[in-house]
Order: sequence, then structure tokens, then C-alpha cells
Amino acid sequence: MKKSIVFLFVCVQCLMAAAQNNDSIVIKSIFSSALTSNASYENLRHLCKEIGGRIGGSPQAAKAVDWLHGALKAAGADTVYLQELKVRNWKRGFKESCYAKSNAGKKPLAVCALGGAMGTGKQGVSANIIEVQNFDQLKALGEANIKGKIVFFNRPADPTLYSTFEAYGGAADQRFIGASMAASYGAVASISRSLTNIKHIYPHTGIMHYFDSLPKIPAFAISTVDADILSTLVKNEPSTKVYLKSGCYENPDTISNNVIAEIKGSEFPNEIIVVGGHIDAWELGEGAHDDGIGVVQAMDVLRIFKELNIKPRHTIRVVEFMDEEMAQRGGRKYEEILQQTKEKHIAAIESDEGGFTPQGFAYDAGDNVEKRLEQWKPLLINYGLWLYNKGYSGVDISFMEKENIPLFGLITDSQRYFDFQHASTDKFEAVNQRELQLGGASIAALIYLIDKYGF
Ligand SMILES: [Zn+2]
Repeated sequence: MKKSIVFLFVCVQCLMAAAQNNDSIVIKSIFSSALTSNASYENLRHLCKEIGGRIGGSPQAAKAVDWLHGALKAAGADTVYLQELKVRNWKRGFKESCYAKSNAGKKPLAVCALGGAMGTGKQGVSANIIEVQNFDQLKALGEANIKGKIVFFNRPADPTLYSTFEAYGGAADQRFIGASMAASYGAVASISRSLTNIKHIYPHTGIMHYFDSLPKIPAFAISTVDADILSTLVKNEPSTKVYLKSGCYENPDTISNNVIAEIKGSEFPNEIIVVGGHIDAWELGEGAHDDGIGVVQAMDVLRIFKELNIKPRHTIRVVEFMDEEMAQRGGRKYEEILQQTKEKHIAAIESDEGGFTPQGFAYDAGDNVEKRLEQWKPLLINYGLWLYNKGYSGVDISFMEKENIPLFGLITDSQRYFDFQHASTDKFEAVNQRELQLGGASIAALIYLIDKYGF
């Protein structure tokens, strides 16, 4: 190698090292800002305690939109605006009740209606139970054994899978289409085991779907503890009857909003980095882990940039999505508008895996992004961000995939996520302040690097 080339090579290495050193100082200050501010925790408290569960179409969801409008401005946004959309307007109605009646007497069971399900009406439904693990068993039993009964889907989420999301996904068909499948053989209602590995007494709701071509029947989730009790009861005494009552109904679609807030880019104001979570949450709990944390972490990105006087080159746009839980109308609307405006997006980042210790990022993007993440890894690994998984990054931003926008999702240690998801246990108290703060800082650090270096 010639001397001059060697010199140049050494210089480039020096410059890169200096840049890394500067970046590590900024990233340290981002984490320090998050870890010493009470803002995200207080915002989460407000969302959970002052507003509470907020399913799309509810007064609480409207209240959350109003509050966010002001709170995002206070967090440091230059502009805040609403993006109007229509949401489903399903109501739970009166509190559900359920009991099993056997020779041993009446045994109350903890159930809740699934989201989007029809109700039983005040008279309720009473019938014998038939327990199955999957749709193959249902088919094998056929109409002769199922007609007039309540089908009880009792396949647990697989506890041997390390990924709790995979375990959830592997059992979710029972909740999602179980009622329609059961109805196709003449069942009068369906009960599905809650999608969690924890044994507790709280039922977990979540969206279900009816096939238009099949009769609609009421659909419930039962707590894991009560699922085991019911299973034993029915095994010991097949003539056990179950009584179910729910008051859910659906009103016509109603108007709601995504809430959008921006810090305008200093060099490329028309190039956008999206960060967000979803506003709506099932009303059994307070929507803390799912997804209050994502909402307030995105807000904290704005606060951190303002506090540290980091002037982003590109526009940072917080998008707080509405209606992830029912029909993802917020994510769809954002993408629909994007198709019209053709605004250039550099990246979109979502946090919707619970407010647990961050571990890294999922990314749905090309090789150039993968290379960048590899370069940035040494800057992030000291904050526990070691995991970079190519693949799914989040529901709300997933609609932007067709626009070829690099997508990112915060990965957290999700072993406890399904202890809370969609259940009354998903409360403010279930979130650890430090873990919440680390999540916001992790996202802010990634945005800082994307804004500075691009892909
Ligand atoms: Zn969620």
C-alpha cells in the first residue's frame, strides 16, 4: 500500500471513530434524559387512570384524542393535528355472567365477551358443553355431536415456545374464528380459553371475527383457571350445563381520529420519520402495556429531542393510531392518505409489545438497513439493544409495507406480556417506570441515528 493511501485509510478510520464517539455521547444523553424525566410515566398514569380503557368509538377514546392533542404540544411538537377516520362502534353492554350447573351445584366461572361478538341478550344461553382442542376435532365430532351445544375451545398457548407472541399466534384461531367454526355445526355459543400461559382468574378479551356466510353466535373467553375447572367438571359429568349471559351490541360506525404531531426537519422537512403506538385499548383494563406505553414513548421522543436541543434534519412525526384492536382503521387510514400525498417517508417505528425491558428492534426492510443496523449496534448494545430480527414490526405501520418504507418495531422481553394483554390486569401499576423510560430512549436513539445517517 502506498504511504498516501495508508494515511487516507487511517484518517477515515479516525473520523469514523470520532463520529462514533460523538454519537455515543448523544445517545448517552438521550438515555439520561429519559431516565431522569417523570414525563412518560406521568403521561401513562394520566392515560390509564384519568381516562382508562378506551376502545374505538368509546367516550374514553374521544377523551384520549382530546388529551393527546394538548399533551403532544406540551411534549414539544411544532404542530399537532387530527386525521379523521371511521371506527367500529362495538359496546360490551352489561357485565357478563357465567356459571356451570352440575350435580355438585352451581359454579360461577370468569368469562368475558370477545370483542366484536354479539350478545346473548338478557335471557342468556344455557346448554351442554362440548370441549375440543382444535378445528379438526370439531369436524370429526360433526353436527350430530355439536348441534345445540356450547363449544369450549380449550387448547392452551404452547408453553414450550420461547416467543410468547408465537405461542399466542399458535392458539389465536380459537378466539378469532372459533365461534363461526362452531356455528357451522350448529353450536349455540362458543367459549375459548384465554390466550395466555399464566394461570389466573382473569379472562382476556380480544377481537373475534364472524364469517358472513355462517350464523352468528355469542363468543366468550374464559380465564385459564376457570377453563381448567370447566374442563374437569365436564369430564367428570358430561351432562354439566353452562349458562352464559352477555349484553354486547354494535352501533353504526362512528367518527374518531389518529392524532399526529411533528417536529419539522431542519434540512429535509418533507422527509418523514414516523413513530407511534395505538391509542385505543380494551376496556376491561386500562390499556397500560397495550398500548399506552407505545403512545407515551412516542411522546417522549419529542420531549427528549426538545430537551437536548437536537434539531432533527428530517421531520419527526408522532402518529398515535386509533382502532388497532378492532379493525386497524387508524393504520389503514394513515396509509390511504399517504398514497394520495406521496409524502416521502424515511422510516416508521412502532412500540406495541408492552413496556418491558427493551432488547432491540424488529425490522422489515432491505439489506441497506440491515447493514446500517450492524454499524449502529456497537452504539446501542450497552443499553441492552442486542437483538435485531428481520421480520414483522407492528400492526399499525404494517400497512406502509406496500410503500417500501423501512419499518421497525421495538422488541421487549415479552415473557410477561400476555399476563396482561387484553385483561383487567393491564393497569398502570403493571408497568415499571424504568423499563418504560428505556423503551422511549431506545426509540429516540434509533431515530437520532436514522435522522443523521439515513440508510
Ligand atoms: Zn396493541
